[in-house]
Amino acid sequence: DLKRQIPTGPELYGAERPNSKGFDLAHAPTLTAIDSARTPWRAHNWVARPLLASDTTGSAPQNVMNPSDHALVGESSECRLEDVEQALNDAARWSAPAQERAEILNRAADLYEAHYGELFALLHREAGKTLMDAVAELREAVDFLRYYAANIPAADPAGIFTCISPWNFPLAIFTGQIAAALAVGNGVLAKPAESTTLIAHRAVQLLHEAGVPRTALQLTPGRGREIGPLLTGDPRVSGVAFTGSTATALHIRTEMAKGLRPGAPLIAETGGLNAMIVDSTALPEQAVQAIIESAFQSAGQRCSALRCLYLQEDIADTVLDMLKGAMDCLHLGDPWNLSTDSGPVIDSRAQSGILAHISTARSEGRVMHELHPPQGGTFVAPTLIEVSGIDALKEEIFGPVLHVARFKARDLDKVIEAINGTGYGLTFGLHTRIDDRVQHVCDRIKAGNIYVNRNQIGAIVGSQPFGGEGLSGTGPKAGGPLYLSRYCAPDRQTSAE
Ligand code: GLU
Repeated sequence: DLKRQIPTGPELYGAERPNSKGFDLAHAPTLTAIDSARTPWRAHNWVARPLLASDTTGSAPQNVMNPSDHALVGESSECRLEDVEQALNDAARWSAPAQERAEILNRAADLYEAHYGELFALLHREAGKTLMDAVAELREAVDFLRYYAANIPAADPAGIFTCISPWNFPLAIFTGQIAAALAVGNGVLAKPAESTTLIAHRAVQLLHEAGVPRTALQLTPGRGREIGPLLTGDPRVSGVAFTGSTATALHIRTEMAKGLRPGAPLIAETGGLNAMIVDSTALPEQAVQAIIESAFQSAGQRCSALRCLYLQEDIADTVLDMLKGAMDCLHLGDPWNLSTDSGPVIDSRAQSGILAHISTARSEGRVMHELHPPQGGTFVAPTLIEVSGIDALKEEIFGPVLHVARFKARDLDKVIEAINGTGYGLTFGLHTRIDDRVQHVCDRIKAGNIYVNRNQIGAIVGSQPFGGEGLSGTGPKAGGPLYLSRYCAPDRQTSAE
């Protein structure tokens, strides 16, 4: 019985689940307060540079632009190889007792919350995040800090960790990796994504202000190709936490193997080709809302996002008509505007890759529905593309593009086989009102996070540990009870989730 298999309570998820309350965006006074808190940052220019234990200026600063309108947001300089060398020499474990580390991480969470106006402005302007996304992102960052602080294991740290984080969660995942490594007492070299260094810089300033020593946490921004091999392959590095593409994760593992450090952990969260099955008993309104959120929220730039929707043929036309109507109501534009549902994609390179995929589908007559993108920024309008099945998708298209396939009831197991056959296994969604089918499908689908009769994005720290199987990641899951064990000295680690 599936219900009995769903574990709940402190016995599994740790004694403490102090999740942030976040912001209620349906409450008008809250919106007014948010607006006044972020307004002073509307035209602010931030400056980011390496934050190392020793002083450095880093490379010559480059301008950082807003992806919605290409206006200036600030400037950022990077680490040169000699700066990374220096950072590796200075890096030290965080030797404060666990209780003190927990207090400092909790203080950092309070500081993040206190600076919400500035952080929302940065998330809108550097990362193209809508207000809904910015609120979720701050919540998750704060949740990671408090959850790991509350669940520190009695074990020794591995040593020095390199944390390499993605631009799609420039505050939450950036903070989550660092908070996990620091909670256990490791030293950290944090390498943020190249497109979101201003957010990373501000986050590290707040962590230092909370009391994390500068030798225990250094910010080493730079090009992955240039400084990545040193940050991951150097023998002074005891482990790597990475979130990004599967190809880069494999590359990092090769670099790490060169250092002949058996047991040096790579904790990788990578890509996905995520599917949803909607059968003929599903509630169309519920399915459509879940599809819109899963495929198009954050402009489809979540690794959890829905990429391939399987509709049982008897319900397909009804769902598609409603889905197209719901897509037509989406507001695309500047993420600063409260009415915007979907902002730009991260940069023009991402935009051209996604547009090329859509244009191939268009030339083959497979585009089922598309909207008009706003002018000016790196926008891609939400698009539906018809496919025969998930095996037609050769790679993860990291944007607001949803592929749709139809299936007959008798082919359900073939659909499950095709989904498992991609080799990825991150998120999966199912909409049905048949209990036995929930059991049947969930028993067979190989995915880290399975969601039934709801959307398949937005895992909550402490309640829904997040991570994939197969090509989607190594585990253990972030925000779950086993995650910190991989940041501990090897003899104390427990097996992956
Ligand atoms: N944890 C996020 C979610 O559940 C996705 C993380 C990612 O995109 O890397 O939507």
